[in-house]
Amino acid sequence: MADLDAVRRWADALIALHLDPAEWSFGFDHAKKRAGLCNYTHRRITVSRYLAARYTDDEVHQILLHEVAHALAGERAGHGPKWAQIAAGLGYVGRRTHDGAVVSELAPWVGRCPAGHVHYRYRQPVRALSCGLCRRGFDRANLIVWRRREITPAMRRLAASATGASTTGESALPGDASTSPQPLR
Ligand SMILES: [Zn+2]
Ligand SMILES: [Zn+2]
Repeated sequence: MADLDAVRRWADALIALHLDPAEWSFGFDHAKKRAGLCNYTHRRITVSRYLAARYTDDEVHQILLHEVAHALAGERAGHGPKWAQIAAGLGYVGRRTHDGAVVSELAPWVGRCPAGHVHYRYRQPVRALSCGLCRRGFDRANLIVWRRREITPAMRRLAASATGASTTGESALPGDASTSPQPLR
């Protein structure tokens, strides 16, 4: 549970150390799906107030390093080798991006395909989705079955440090008027 005042102090210190404090600033935002953001237009690094309060100090520090690395690498670097090298140089050891993947396990809707691939959604999927990891394009044989779960504080902590889960790869049933989506059971 990081203390938000402390988070601000670390952020200001990192900006003073690695960036130009006259140009770059830090603030909290209200995002729930991603932990941090580097806004190049406003030269502002923000961290989710909501998630920062739930993550450990180390985790929040990693999020800050991740975003400072974005500021240093420039927008076009994305999460490519240039960013990765700078991030590693700053001490970023997170294997997951903190832009969204890291909090995917906080999504209340968890789906599994027949082969066991796990998918996450923040809202109940309204259309039938098939597993894109099993097969590209919609295929009823790879239909994802969804379940709603309770998100506990322990899960939030776990999500902050977990590694490896896939968050992509669903294929939506094409929105063809002649094909009505299968209701999920
Ligand atoms: Zn990133
Ligand atoms: Zn699958």
